[in-house]
Parts: sequence; C-alpha cells; structure tokens
Amino acid sequence: MDYQAAISKIYNEIKNIEDSGKVATYIPELAGIDPNKFGVHLTTLEDKHFSMGDSDEKFSIQSIAKVLSLTLAYNLEEDNLWKRMGVEPSGAPFNSLTLLEYNNGVPRNPMINSGAIVVCDILINHLKNPKQELIEFIRHVSGNSEISYSERISKSEKSVGYRNASLIHLMKAYDNIHNDIDEVLDLYFSLCSIEMTCKELSKTFLYLAGYGVCPYTENRVVSASKSKRINAIMQLCGMYDEAGEFSFRTGLPGKSGVGGGIVAVLPNHYSIAVWSPKLNPKGNSFKGMEFLERFTTETESSVF
Ligand code: GLN
Repeated sequence: MDYQAAISKIYNEIKNIEDSGKVATYIPELAGIDPNKFGVHLTTLEDKHFSMGDSDEKFSIQSIAKVLSLTLAYNLEEDNLWKRMGVEPSGAPFNSLTLLEYNNGVPRNPMINSGAIVVCDILINHLKNPKQELIEFIRHVSGNSEISYSERISKSEKSVGYRNASLIHLMKAYDNIHNDIDEVLDLYFSLCSIEMTCKELSKTFLYLAGYGVCPYTENRVVSASKSKRINAIMQLCGMYDEAGEFSFRTGLPGKSGVGGGIVAVLPNHYSIAVWSPKLNPKGNSFKGMEFLERFTTETESSVF
C-alpha cells in the first residue's frame, strides 16, 4: 500500500478547501493557535513512517489523552472500572451536564469529560504520586521520555474550568468522586494539557493497532482483550455526539481533542494522527475528519 502517495494527494486536495471550522477559544491558551496549521503522520506496525505538513510541530492533544489515562486506570482497576461509568455512546456534547444528571452522576463513557474525571479519581486512589506516575506511563507507552504536561495550558484551562468544576461537583453529590475535588481536577487539567506532534501521537497509539503490544518497544501495554475494548469504546464514543458520523465516514476507531487533533487506528496495520485546529460545531477538527474520510476511502482501509 502506497500510504505516502495517498497522504500527499489528499493533503494537497484538502489544504485549501473552505474550512468552516473555528479554533477553540474557551481555553485562552488555545485561542492564539495558528488556524492554518495542518499536519498528518502515519506509523505502521513495521515502524514505517509517512507524513505531510506540520507533522513535527507540538500541539495540545487535549481529550485524546483520555484514552491513555483510561488504559492505565483499566490496568489498575480491571472490570471494577465499569461500576463507575458506562461504555455507551453519549449522543451529547463532551461537557454535557444534563446527561450526567439524568444518569445519576454515572458518566456514559470514559471519553467524555465526566468519565475522564472519574478515571482521574480512580488513578488517585491507586497511585502514590498520580501526576508523575501518569506521565511516566504515557512516556512508556509512547517510547518517548520527553512527553510532558504543559503548565501553561493546564493553568489556562483551570482559570476558566467552570463547566468541569460543575461536572465534578455533580458527581461528588452522587458519591461518584472519592477524592478531593481540586486534586482530581488538577490531574484532569494536566492530562488535557499534554503536547505531542502528529508523529509522537501516531506512535503512542500504535499499541491499539498491535493488540496491546507496542511493536517498536515490544512492551505489552494492555492485554489483547483490553485493547479490543478500548478500540470499541473509541469507535462508539471517541468523537462525542459525532461518533456515528465519524464511524460512518471513516470506519476506524478514533479520538479527537479540542486542540484540533484526531488519532485513528487500524488494528494490525497502522495508527494515524491528523492535526488542524479549526473545529466543527461538535468540537472535532473539520479538516481532520475530511482527511480521514478521504484517506480510508482511497486506501480502502477500515475495520469494516
Ligand atoms: N480539556 C478540554 C475540556 O475539558 C477537553 C475537551 C476536548 O478535548 N474535547 O473541555
């Protein structure tokens, strides 16, 4: 498969199309990002690399990191995790309060904010130094000791984090948060602040293409069964209330973030990361969605 030819062709087709998306401005540090950034990187299980555009520039991965915190919490908590949250698509925005109220403080899944906040609460129960141990886990998964939180971005989000504060208070009222609210929120904002390039992101997610094993480090990150389940959750919930549309157009499990990144995985083959900061009304990268749809169509690569 000539992945580079497909990436180059589609990148050039999409680069200058009318982009109706808007950069996320509710986090002040994200508002200043150059809206025209556009990068793609694909890594295969054989450690082959194909890329285009701004693929070596770091950006805020935001909610994409929820998959990594889920992976660690799932290893620590096993299936008890599902007593605290569901695995159903939410059909609602990532920061919805109404849905959480309706479900008595139990998040619909770990990919929306409320679910990721409960995951952080669980990590705090298990780990002595949660912030440090979480980033070390992510470095281990990505095979890259340089990955780190951005103090600048986490502070910026914390300064306006009223909705996430509302979500955690509501869950505390339903007894689904067991630790100090500020400590849990701090960990959540740190998680969301991680910065990676498209190349680093696609390499990091390769364990989900490798049935739980990261092929270039040969580290088993999770069991094959957990890898299957995490991919299933991404397929159904990774793009919030646009998960159906993404699945329909792309046919791959994927996860987006409000920094404009999307990562998608084809088990047994590759992991691909796209970054373009302008978001559609559902909070997913406009060009990222467009690119991945055309890419999976052109290469006929999909799980279906
Ligand atoms: N940090 C962001 C928030 O909590 C993450 C949302 C996202 O990337 N969809 O609002």
